[in-house]
Amino acid sequence: MKFTVTSRGDNVSNALQQRIKTYLVEFGLTFDDENPEIVITVGGDGTLLHAFHTYKHRLEDTSFVGIHTGHLGFYADWMPEEVEKLVIHIAKTPFQIVEYPLLEVVLRHYGENKSERLLALNECTVKSPEESLVCNVEIKGEKFETFRGDGLCISTPSGSTAYNKALGGAILHPSLACIQLAEMASINNRVYRTVGSPLVLPQHHTCLLKPQNYVKLQITIDHFSWSHQKVKSIQCRVAEEKIKFARFRPFPFWKRVRESFIGD
Ligand code: NAP
Repeated sequence: MKFTVTSRGDNVSNALQQRIKTYLVEFGLTFDDENPEIVITVGGDGTLLHAFHTYKHRLEDTSFVGIHTGHLGFYADWMPEEVEKLVIHIAKTPFQIVEYPLLEVVLRHYGENKSERLLALNECTVKSPEESLVCNVEIKGEKFETFRGDGLCISTPSGSTAYNKALGGAILHPSLACIQLAEMASINNRVYRTVGSPLVLPQHHTCLLKPQNYVKLQITIDHFSWSHQKVKSIQCRVAEEKIKFARFRPFPFWKRVRESFIGD
């Protein structure tokens, strides 16, 4: 099997990366960071986000597993002291695959015929740094509301524990093929009105955001951020593609939620 190991870049993660690489080569696996069948990330959830974007062109043939060199994470759910156990699992046992939904974002610009298609593992956010964002929200082709406020966040179920949670969005189990739209500080008074609650949209319900005030927008996809001047629309829906995680033991999602946010 072909593998690669990525690192957050700190000394602890780099040392662990080297150890894992040496172990797996000794076990007869092939190091290949061009076309890996399994990607092992060492660092945190952010490190796995980076690895996802590096290998998102080959999601069909690649599985991910994350080791956390800080506290336990959602994508990185193995601890450094478990590395030997994990390496033996990878080398010796066929692993189970768990698939999580992704978000597809299609950006269209005024004056351009071609669109840009992007994939997010956590979320896409749309903000207008210079003044309030004014944005029509259409769901399944029908106008739902005009949003005024700081911005909007459209997240995947596995991204629901990240930025979405800080916005008061619900935590969604990643077995649900859906996306969540959460508001950032909407203006609500007698003139302006939004629904005020996060919305969860099932597969094939497309959400179209149409900015109305032609200002510069800040659009993020996971850890990437771009400024855009002439955005006509941002189309969001559950992607056809999924991310595959290699699972070697059960680690229920709600247990991860409890351990991350509540503790013992
Ligand atoms: P960062 O600002 O360095 O770290 C963001 C934090 O979010 C890290 O602690 C990271 O965990 C954690 N995280 C990432 N994905 C997560 C998930 N699915 N569930 C729970 N926690 C998660 O940025 P980054 O490492 O490049 O990650 C980019 C992400 O930061 C974005 O996708 C967004 O979700 C998140 N973010 C959150 C807020 C907020 O909560 N107000 C604001 C901006 C961005 P690790 O320490 O394990 O890497």
